[in-house]
Amino acid sequence: MNQVLIMVAVLVGLHLGRYALMAGGAYLFFWKWKGNPLTATRRIQHQVFTRADLRREVLFSLQTALLFGALFGVVYGGAKPIPLAQSGGWAVLEFCAWMLFVLVVHDTYFYWSHRLLHHPALFRRVHALHHQSRNPSPFAALAFHPVEALFQVAWAIPLGQFLPVPSSVWLAFAFVAMFINVLGHCGVELSPRSWATHPVLGWLNSATIHDAHHQQLDQNFGLYLTLWDRVLKTDRAKLRA
Ligand SMILES: [Zn+2]
Ligand SMILES: [Zn+2]
Repeated sequence: MNQVLIMVAVLVGLHLGRYALMAGGAYLFFWKWKGNPLTATRRIQHQVFTRADLRREVLFSLQTALLFGALFGVVYGGAKPIPLAQSGGWAVLEFCAWMLFVLVVHDTYFYWSHRLLHHPALFRRVHALHHQSRNPSPFAALAFHPVEALFQVAWAIPLGQFLPVPSSVWLAFAFVAMFINVLGHCGVELSPRSWATHPVLGWLNSATIHDAHHQQLDQNFGLYLTLWDRVLKTDRAKLRA
């Protein structure tokens, strides 16, 4: 029991900390630094964030971070960490392969669960809360109804139970996923325009595309990649070349 409580405390701290660091850092960098040339030239929308939007985004995101920490703390409290199987240079390769695998699984799960959340039966009660941010700020990254928060992480628990994903990969993934999530909501397009037609980088999702999803509910459901949006023909918004 003590081990579960300690794990809950550690993981709640980790989830609150990564949100505060990344969402808060992005907000300060893009929107409080008045002369930021990136914000001046590459902002997506031109209205200012309302206080009500920012307050709602922060409060629901803090609730999501608490939920994530408590849930994973209960599931993994007392569990032994899983090390990488390889050592030396092979360990780096193993780490990268696991990370790529987890990101692709998450991207696929996210697309399909996100489409499900847009079903009228779920949208109004659950996912509409995230879409209240018509002009999302970095603080919107975890602004979910608690049911959606559980939806968002439901894939990770069975994956961790059935496959020996190393603990270091999960830890790094938590920060990589949050970083990309915050960039998708930061209100500024950072992808160079040349990526729009690049044969490899053109498959990456971007802030412009996710911002368009916050306006138009029937398009661009993807997370890291535009792969599933292209396959299912929901890729209407594109990165501007
Ligand atoms: Zn949506
Ligand atoms: Zn969003």
